[in-house]
Amino acid sequence: MQLDAKTPAGPLETKWDTHRFQLKLVNPSNRRKFTIIVVGTGLAGGSAAASLAEMGYNVHTFCIQDSPRRAHSIAAQGGINAAKNYPNDSDSIRRLFYDTIKGGDFRAREANVYRLAQISNHIIDQCTAQGVPFARDYGGLLDNRSFGGAQVSRTFYARGQTGQQLLLGAYRALSRQIGAGNVTLFSRREMLDLVVVDGRARGIVTRNLVSGQIESYAADAVLLATGGYGNVFNLSTNAMASNVSAAFRTYKRGALFANPCFTQIHPTCIPVHGTYQSKLTLMSESLRNDGRVWVPRSPGDKRPPHQIPESERDYYLESKYPSFGNLVPRDVASRNAKEQCDLGKGVGETGLAVYLDFSDAIRREGKATIAARYGNLFEMYAKITGQDPYATPMMIYPAIHYTMGGLWVDYNLMSTVDGLFVLGEANFSDHGANRLGASALMQGLADGYFIASATVSGYLAETSPGSVNSDHPAFDEARQSVSARIQKMLDINGKRTVDDFHRELGHILWEHCGMSRNNEGLNRARGLVRELKDEFWRNVKVPGAGRDFNQSLEKAGRIADFLEFADLMIVDALTRQESCGCHFNQAFQTEENEARRDDDNFAHVAAWEYRGDEKEPALCKETLVFENVKLTQRSYK
Ligand SMILES: Cc1cc2nc3c(=O)[nH]c(=O)nc-3n(C[C@H](O)[C@H](O)[C@H](O)COP(=O)(O)OP(=O)(O)OC[C@H]3O[C@@H](n4cnc5c(N)ncnc54)[C@H](O)[C@@H]3O)c2cc1C
Repeated sequence: MQLDAKTPAGPLETKWDTHRFQLKLVNPSNRRKFTIIVVGTGLAGGSAAASLAEMGYNVHTFCIQDSPRRAHSIAAQGGINAAKNYPNDSDSIRRLFYDTIKGGDFRAREANVYRLAQISNHIIDQCTAQGVPFARDYGGLLDNRSFGGAQVSRTFYARGQTGQQLLLGAYRALSRQIGAGNVTLFSRREMLDLVVVDGRARGIVTRNLVSGQIESYAADAVLLATGGYGNVFNLSTNAMASNVSAAFRTYKRGALFANPCFTQIHPTCIPVHGTYQSKLTLMSESLRNDGRVWVPRSPGDKRPPHQIPESERDYYLESKYPSFGNLVPRDVASRNAKEQCDLGKGVGETGLAVYLDFSDAIRREGKATIAARYGNLFEMYAKITGQDPYATPMMIYPAIHYTMGGLWVDYNLMSTVDGLFVLGEANFSDHGANRLGASALMQGLADGYFIASATVSGYLAETSPGSVNSDHPAFDEARQSVSARIQKMLDINGKRTVDDFHRELGHILWEHCGMSRNNEGLNRARGLVRELKDEFWRNVKVPGAGRDFNQSLEKAGRIADFLEFADLMIVDALTRQESCGCHFNQAFQTEENEARRDDDNFAHVAAWEYRGDEKEPALCKETLVFENVKLTQRSYK
């Protein structure tokens, strides 16, 4: 398939403005005739649904949870980037653009990233006007802190609860439209298929998670904002319900999946502490503003931290990367933590942890100041580990956190299926091979509040409303295929639980397709995943019935998709014979163990086309053209 990113011509700075002007509009009095489905009510979906309804469209919105407020976005802690330059430290739209492109190791589309940086400032205005309680400085301006991969402070925050406060803002805007009758909310619904008629997205099939009923809904356009797939690794910092199902089933209906192997490992999470643990907890990157990362200089030193004198500590990020220090990007910080642990310098019982120490900051600024900045994170850490981080350093280790890969979209955020738009973490668009901290919220809200409203209108303006309804045979076919799959899972009645399969899949991927990869391990993982998938369809035990509330069945469907999707991730990792950002293939590294890109052969987006269960997916490449930045070896020294 030929991919056309539809990047507008002209200078980078004016592309979005020119494009918006050129997009057709729908007359306000005609908008109510169009129905738009928005799947997902996190920051991307919630803001899109509210904005489109505010414009006058008839919006149907769907989510798994009982309330939009429980979307995974609520977990976001540290902050949201914008190029306001309030601290007057030389930030600018161009600098945010450059940092993001460089942070992604030059594997993102220039025009999208520039637009993101431009829109970042509008997001802050919009959210402030909604009443989001961002932290303020002594003069009343919104306060900023620093995040990885930047030498300016551009991260706006609300203590360690930024996602929650932003989501409450979006939820208020959404509720206003529910009240006005422009949005119909379908909660406790899981999208299980996309309906495509004559090449256009025309609706979805869902399962009512309370009654088990299979339902279908028709629309003039479908927006997916269903979040990331980090839970393919089983243990991750994602919410338990985060999944790949909507995106993956859409892939099977013709949408290309881009860069699936680009998965982000976050360096500061609470380490794994047990076999049956079901999730991991993030300690926000914001903590690296004040926390110093270190390990004992000597391998095997098991003394408690306060007994290790300064001279015997290795602040390895500060010494190796003097310019960025503890605030190097996540991929770099994660790999260095692993390297220290591999050298035997890891701390704690398992040796799979490094220290994040606040004692200098507490001495310098006082406990009250540190508590005001990070109090809720310290409390969370103390509750989970039983240790007081004001008195002893935190122990942290990298964990799966975010997925840069996602459904391929063009500049309009439209996938390769006409009328199917993909927003937020579910698309691949802006972060290249590594996302910088505090930029996911920025992207989700840029997509939802500002981009989709223009581009979805541009698409609808070229169509006529309501031309297909759910009586169309394509809906019947999709409903039947969803029901048959559910029945097949229930009928197996095997011996192994869904969780057990998920745990094994997670181990395979973490081991072979995680922080560090090699061809031999990836090939091995492919075989192991295939065997596991075969066993799943022979031996899984899904208790209960289909027409009922059944959480085992919900999970089984998601794990079945993860098992297939894992193969695509591995194929993508094997095909990209270079290292870039988070995709670190051991065969491609510099003398200093940094990722070594191959721009001649891999400066492209790898988008995969489904060709049937028994066939290999086809690789379609979108060449990335860099006209405004020079491709260099990333350096944070
Ligand atoms: C612990 C943590 C902290 C973070 N902190 C930050 C931060 O400080 N700054 C930052 O920029 N980013 C942060 N991130 C990343 C950021 O939170 C996410 O990338 C972002 O919130 C994703 O938003 P979204 O709207 O795309 O998806 P989500 O918030 O994941 O929402 C997905 C929505 O889709 C629905 N859904 C999913 N599948 C289906 C289906 N099949 N059918 C129906 N509905 C479905 C869900 O119900 C939900 O409503 C953090 C992430 C984590 C895990």
